Amino acid sequence: MTLAACQALDQNDPLCVLRKLFELAPGLIYLDGNSLGALPRATAQRIEETIRLHWGRDLIKSWNSAGWFELPRRVGDKIAGLIGAEPGEVLAVDSTSINLYKALWAALQISTEGAPEKKVMLSERSNFPTDLYIAQSLCAERGLVLRLVESDELDHALDDQVAVLMLTHVNYRTGSMHDMAQWTARAHAQGALCVWDLAHSAGAVPVDLHEADADFAVGCGYKYLNGGPGAPAFVWVHPRHTDRCWQPLSGWWGHEAPFRFTPDYRPAPGIGRYQCGTQPILSLVALDAGLDTFLAAMPLGGMSALRSKSLSLTDLFMQLIHERLQGHGFEVLTPVESSRRGSQVSLSTSEGAYAIVQALIDRGVIGDFRAGDGQAYPDILRFGFCPLYLSHEDVWHAVDRLHAVVASGVWREARYARQHAVT
Ligand SMILES: *Cc1c(COP(=O)(O)O)cnc(C)c1O
Repeated sequence: MTLAACQALDQNDPLCVLRKLFELAPGLIYLDGNSLGALPRATAQRIEETIRLHWGRDLIKSWNSAGWFELPRRVGDKIAGLIGAEPGEVLAVDSTSINLYKALWAALQISTEGAPEKKVMLSERSNFPTDLYIAQSLCAERGLVLRLVESDELDHALDDQVAVLMLTHVNYRTGSMHDMAQWTARAHAQGALCVWDLAHSAGAVPVDLHEADADFAVGCGYKYLNGGPGAPAFVWVHPRHTDRCWQPLSGWWGHEAPFRFTPDYRPAPGIGRYQCGTQPILSLVALDAGLDTFLAAMPLGGMSALRSKSLSLTDLFMQLIHERLQGHGFEVLTPVESSRRGSQVSLSTSEGAYAIVQALIDRGVIGDFRAGDGQAYPDILRFGFCPLYLSHEDVWHAVDRLHAVVASGVWREARYARQHAVT
């Protein structure tokens, strides 16, 4: 593979016009859009308008006149189109962790009703920690057992004691992707409900919640949806479940008529009840701008064009790692099979994963490091490939600079070993 061949791939890329919709410094190769998406050019103006006109001039009238009150639903509708949900089924609200708490609680409530023998929540030990921590506290609160297994043990561990199967669709460490329809069907066959975390899926891979017959889903606004740091997350509940129970954080925004100010709680019908309290409007506006930017890809082939490009970028990255970094101790942890991976590639290395990432960042290639557990999971170098703003040429230069960092040994300099609070 040559630089010229990479440039030729870019010549045939219908999505290459989208990069100019983002604020990205020339020469910077940003391979961390799976952790914090890049800033869309439209965002600053939208926020400024919200601050100056809606907050500054119109003040509290803006809850109606600027549609602030409806924003969690309106933004949710835009997300719905990306994950195979219908309008009116998704809310952009709270954080992923909080939404997960609400969804798991409701799933447990529904699935254990009349089935006291169901005492287990099942997930993967390699799941993202916040998912496991939320599940831990919930299981403790409800006297359930949290059963954590490795991915290849899931099938065996999914028995009729399981009330809820909690899976993250695309694993944050390895980038490997589950078959959503298959696992949902297996859970249903055991009388369990399935809660999906789409943090690394929404905007990264095609998702069809209805086709998979999923029960609950949550996901993240600041990763592939480019909503900005701490952007609101989202929650989806299958309509067959929404009205079956309250969610546990039954705040006034989830009330059927919040502005009646009645002392008793009556949940709104449908997904509206999954709101809790007043939402961060500036952050919702930023997420809305991120989604509008994302939706600019729709006339250019939409999610399937984004997926093809993402696979092309990750294929190229893996090929170049293979060709250029042989003998340097790297191993690709991400499945090669395209149906089994998301939009990232993770590498392990024999030594210096953290320092290599720091040295790369110093050379304008931003990826990240995820610590291993010293046992089953190695330290990893993680690279996300957002097809909205990356080119094949970027991938070439990223691997070229990785090669330079490793071949020169420059990563061994003491300054690259200094640990920051956020890796
Ligand atoms: C990023 C991510 C989260 C983030 O949760 P927050 O509440 O936004 O901090 C949760 N789960 C998974 C799987 C993630 O990848």
